[in-house]
Amino acid sequence: MLIRVLGSAAGGGFPQWNCRCPVCTLAWNNDPRVSPRTQSSLAISADGHHWLLLNASPDLRQQISAHSILHPVSGRRGSPIYGIWLTNGDIDHVAGLLSLREQQSFTIFATRGILDELAANAIFSALAGGAVTRRAISHNAEIAAGYGLDVTSFAVPGKVPLYREGARVSTDEISEMTSGLNLRHGGRTALYIPGCARVTPDIKARIAGADVVLFDGTTFVDDEMLQLGLSNKTAARMGHLAMSGPAGSMAALADVVGPRKIFIHINNTNPALIEGSPERRAVEAAGWEIAFDGMEIDL
Ligand SMILES: [Zn+2]
Repeated sequence: MLIRVLGSAAGGGFPQWNCRCPVCTLAWNNDPRVSPRTQSSLAISADGHHWLLLNASPDLRQQISAHSILHPVSGRRGSPIYGIWLTNGDIDHVAGLLSLREQQSFTIFATRGILDELAANAIFSALAGGAVTRRAISHNAEIAAGYGLDVTSFAVPGKVPLYREGARVSTDEISEMTSGLNLRHGGRTALYIPGCARVTPDIKARIAGADVVLFDGTTFVDDEMLQLGLSNKTAARMGHLAMSGPAGSMAALADVVGPRKIFIHINNTNPALIEGSPERRAVEAAGWEIAFDGMEIDL
């Protein structure tokens, strides 16, 4: 199984277009300790020719350009991309669908709840029903996703997309709205969990049985955005679990030592993006890696 990290940043990318937080400022200044990152997406393949994208970020066109494996290879029209699997309805995960509206045939895999969100937003009707198949996925049922890849979607604590939030928001809800993915081929297993509000016993057991996990690394501390004066939202309020602290993901998964552990979906404010920073060293000391655009994982 081949995994290619198309985009490793959270929504907004890194640097974010309107941000001069300390980490973005390093990127704007071309500081060698940081590398720019596009928004959250993976490409995955069992045969090396046909690729399933996990989420479609607003940077998708740029990501396809940057990866020759995703360029059209034959005929007047065509693409090695045969499907897009959506883990939630967040803008950083679905807006890229609008860059795939040129009558190309592919399948959108998502829960019924996420497909209903797309259907409720008329702009996505640009993805013509004749060419683009919507396939409703139930949690906890492995399906053959095509070309040798077996995928199981499972529920992860999270929240509805920002644009669907009402006056009261449940940020730790187990529903169809936030999924993790178990990807299997040739006896090897990868887990992709780009948004997670809490590590449940179920999620921990799934991670323990995997060869590699790509996990929500949005913020380093829960109140990172508040400390910087950039937002009144904690990571928890955004449906994400911070890396550090007694309730953070590193602590929750400290005794899971089997799989390769990689943080992905990293917000531009996260100081672990800075090579050599105390936060990066803490992450590395805990046995975790920080994903970067272009990262290649072969299982
Ligand atoms: Zn920033």
